Amino acid sequence: METVHHDVLLIGGGGAGLRAAIAVAEANPRLTVGVASKVYPMRSHTVSAEGGAAGAIRPEDSLDEHAYDTISGGDWLCHQGAVEAFVREAPEELLRMEHWGCPWSRTPDGRIATRPFGGMKIERTWYAADKTGFHLLHSLYQTALKYPSISFHDEWFVVDLLVDGDRCHGAVAIELASGKVVALLARSVVLCTGGGGRVYPFTTNANIKTGDGMAFAYRAGVPLKDMEFVQYHPTGLPFTGILITEATRGEGGHLVNRDGYRYLQDYDLGTPEPKPVKRSMELGPRDRLSQAFVGEQEKGRTVESKWGDVVHLDIRHLGEKLIDERLPFVRELCRKYQKIDPVHELIPVRPVVHYMMGGVHTDIEGATPVAGLFAAGEVACVSINGANRLGSNSLTELLVFGARAGRGAVQEVENAPDRPPEAVLRRALEVERRIHGDLLLRRGEGERVATIREEMQLTLEANVGIYRERAGLEEAREKLRELRDRMKGVSLDDGSLTFNTELPHYLEMENMLDVAEAIVHSALNREESRGSHQRRDFPARDDERFLAHSLVRRSPEGEPRVELLPVTITRWEPGERVYGR
Ligand SMILES: Cc1cc2nc3c(=O)[nH]c(=O)nc-3n(C[C@H](O)[C@H](O)[C@H](O)COP(=O)(O)OP(=O)(O)OC[C@H]3O[C@@H](n4cnc5c(N)ncnc54)[C@H](O)[C@@H]3O)c2cc1C
Repeated sequence: METVHHDVLLIGGGGAGLRAAIAVAEANPRLTVGVASKVYPMRSHTVSAEGGAAGAIRPEDSLDEHAYDTISGGDWLCHQGAVEAFVREAPEELLRMEHWGCPWSRTPDGRIATRPFGGMKIERTWYAADKTGFHLLHSLYQTALKYPSISFHDEWFVVDLLVDGDRCHGAVAIELASGKVVALLARSVVLCTGGGGRVYPFTTNANIKTGDGMAFAYRAGVPLKDMEFVQYHPTGLPFTGILITEATRGEGGHLVNRDGYRYLQDYDLGTPEPKPVKRSMELGPRDRLSQAFVGEQEKGRTVESKWGDVVHLDIRHLGEKLIDERLPFVRELCRKYQKIDPVHELIPVRPVVHYMMGGVHTDIEGATPVAGLFAAGEVACVSINGANRLGSNSLTELLVFGARAGRGAVQEVENAPDRPPEAVLRRALEVERRIHGDLLLRRGEGERVATIREEMQLTLEANVGIYRERAGLEEAREKLRELRDRMKGVSLDDGSLTFNTELPHYLEMENMLDVAEAIVHSALNREESRGSHQRRDFPARDDERFLAHSLVRRSPEGEPRVELLPVTITRWEPGERVYGR
């Protein structure tokens, strides 16, 4: 079997992966770095981020204000030590991006421009028009290409980690162009595989976001943290799930119901302002806005459409000039995918799954409990996002914690053995045999991967969505068990080796079932409502029992086991969740 050796292996070429790769190259140019990515790095989901990246920079802002907003927005479930490091390093990282070529939008006098974002009471979101992710990823990619020590394995699909005892020695991957299975051996590994929103049917997430890295870590015995916290974004296009960025509301857009009424004024968004709240109401936290949509739906005040119930986002009053200058991508998306022009028409929107607060359990240097294995970006849970991420904190998180994990991986190289144990190579061979000797030969009359995927997605949407309760969660748990069983009977139509796209879909499906199971079991265990996890049967936050992270681990029998880990509180005692003080 072919083997490739690197000192450090990055799995994922999105924002976190590229930032980590550069950090390794800068810390020690003698180390060889491999970046494996199932798509070309520039196609990673980071490219689609629109709104911006948070970092305190304005004179009226401070690191403490950014930390407070993040912690209260996360309903006091954030690791406060991690948040303090995050807000401190945020402006430094964003400025570094400027030096690497990221064209941040400017004020007329040439300073960095900022825009308001949900849950942030001071403007601190840096942006590059509404294509921030594109510019950020491009700048990172161009910078990474300058380092001779970094090499890319583009369109290589990682199947699993190579872990022996409590150390990670690399991963096994399929080169998609040839179908060859290769052992990628490394002294330290950083998982940067992004989130897994595709376990739900309506999502802003790209098709590639299937939680692969979370499943790898889970199978390797690393706990997944806070998986029950799944963020719905209140404004996705109803059919495609394409995101209409929060910046649209930051610039002054209104959410209205079937009567053209700004319904958010009827809901508690955590804003202490007297009602009706004027400008800030559309900028309440995403979880509360998504819950308000369900409230309108239950009152029969949403609008029926052929894609289900929607409300309207109205930006007509902003005018063509501002829309073209600040929100050109929003206009383009509406025209191309919804066939409407938001300069003159209302945009139909509904809440769609957007982001996973949970992920691979790491410390604030990105290290997991398995030696030689690090994680950063959306795949990881440090946690700076707690029970609800504030928009625009994530892009900054990729930079701050991508860099930290990269530096951690460099230090770990010293501790790794010179050559991996035999058991690791045997395991790689097993994976190769499974792919070539089993999966590719499974032809015939079995079920389709797509059938299993759709049933899983609909089950999660119905039972583990914006609101949850015990009976529904138990139903989802049973359904997932059934689907796992049915996976054994799935067959593939395509048995070829060259660019076989069905094979990765099968492997992604296995990963998504692991992720879905972790979400459901963590949600069942958390008998309270906090942030994006709302239990109808336990409507209040319960700090007594649940001011704690959920850690879900796979037992030796393959069953998920949930335990709790106390939250690190440094300076901000849990209080009522208000923003906009
Ligand atoms: C539409 C949209 C808009 C957003 N807007 C904003 C915003 O304005 N501000 C903000 O802060 N956040 C925003 N977010 C969130 C933020 O963009 C993401 O959380 C972040 O970009 C994730 O980056 P990442 O590097 O962790 O992962 P990704 O960018 O998703 O990259 C994952 C990488 O892992 C690779 N990979 C995955 N699985 C495998 C495998 N099995 N084998 C090999 N490679 C693999 C992929 O090829 C890819 O290179 C947005 C998200 C979406 C979906």
